[in-house]
Amino acid sequence: MTSIFSKIIAGDIPSYKIYEDEKIYAFLDIHPIQLGHVLVVPKEEIGDILDMSDDSLSELMLIAKNIIAPAIKKATNCERVGFSVEGLGVKDHMHLHLIPLFQLGDLNPEKAHTETSENMKMIQDKIVSSLT
Ligand code: 5GP
Repeated sequence: MTSIFSKIIAGDIPSYKIYEDEKIYAFLDIHPIQLGHVLVVPKEEIGDILDMSDDSLSELMLIAKNIIAPAIKKATNCERVGFSVEGLGVKDHMHLHLIPLFQLGDLNPEKAHTETSENMKMIQDKIVSSLT
């Protein structure tokens, strides 16, 4: 079975792409907890973080820490960027959530909502143009 994130990576399902390299793909979460909520996924379809090699996990975290999170911070002017790994919704493809945080409680999944396509495009452009 192909995971929904592999379909996104292949371009079979559209996404607001933030970053791509040989091994990693990042895109806006379709139901952001905060505007600017990004999912960072390994292209290799591994379900559980515990099954990732140390090298793959290190690469994912370093791209998230050094490239994507600073761009989210710059684009949203948030105080911090929250990192979380949960995977109870999409279980067959490990993903890292990067979420702009402004105040306590901003990681609460109950804040997940739908944004307008205009807002999604606007924050995609801002984050992408903040990548260094
Ligand atoms: P989990 O609870 O598994 O850690 O989170 C899965 C995340 O994937 C959720 O935040 C959900 O909104 C997001 N998601 C699920 N399907 C899609 C999709 O088709 N496109 C995008 N961009 N995000 C998705």
